[in-house]
Amino acid sequence: MGEKSQVPPKKPRISPMWKRTVSQIFTKPATTKYPFVKPQLGSDFRGEQVFDIKLCVSCGLCSRDCPAKAIEMVEVDGKKRPQFMLDRCVFCYQCAESCPRNAIKSSVIYELATTDKPSLVIKPRASSATEATS
Ligand code: SF4
Ligand code: SF4
Repeated sequence: MGEKSQVPPKKPRISPMWKRTVSQIFTKPATTKYPFVKPQLGSDFRGEQVFDIKLCVSCGLCSRDCPAKAIEMVEVDGKKRPQFMLDRCVFCYQCAESCPRNAIKSSVIYELATTDKPSLVIKPRASSATEATS
């Protein structure tokens, strides 16, 4: 006479959370053991800028086009040269794109974290870094 009462579905005996937890034990970690193991960097990695003062013609295009205002043109031996402020830099490398003389190149220098803010100002000199990638 009355409607059959609906039986609630059986709960799975092993919860999905447990299944996932157990499966993770046999999964390779997504993280690396940095800083104990150094990462493999791609050829297009964008680290600290390498500036070649010999190629620079003091046009200021790098400073003009920098979206983060991270390049200030400063005088060196009577000519304006780019000074990089890495605490502002977003490593977009528009400066290198804009440079008509290819005077700015990327490097694999990436360990830049510091509490010493003035050390993040890279003054123009013959070579601001030695590990250029291109
Ligand atoms: S990499 Fe980008 S943000 Fe950094 S100095 Fe060059 S243009 Fe500016
Ligand atoms: S764009 Fe290139 S040539 Fe012009 S000031 Fe910058 S580094 Fe020098």
